[in-house]
Amino acid sequence: MENAPVCGAKRNNGELCTVRVRVAGERCWGHDPKNVEQRKQNARRAAQLKAQKPSELVEIKNTLRQLADDVLAGEVNRGDASVAAQVFGVLIRAHEQHRKQRELEEVVQRLERIEEVQRRRENVRPV
Ligand SMILES: [Zn+2]
Repeated sequence: MENAPVCGAKRNNGELCTVRVRVAGERCWGHDPKNVEQRKQNARRAAQLKAQKPSELVEIKNTLRQLADDVLAGEVNRGDASVAAQVFGVLIRAHEQHRKQRELEEVVQRLERIEEVQRRRENVRPV
């Protein structure tokens, strides 16, 4: 396999890409010019997902801090502020629960994939 064709495109660090391709002269998925739009879209989506999650918590934190300042300054009723803080607390817990749920689903999916591979191996094993 030493002569297997590789992509050979120049990477950002100046090194040549060593991803295997089917025929010489072909570029890998990450370097093929026809995937430029898809790659950009993927990068945008990844950036969006990355930006989405913490921003809600940051927003809640900022609001709570503002609320505390307003209470201390006497601009917000203490009872109202207390209720608002409780609601934010529930929101934060729901956020955390949602995150745990997503993590659990991911683990279950990975486990199912492992089980599937295991099952296939057991099926091909001679009895
Ligand atoms: Zn490449």
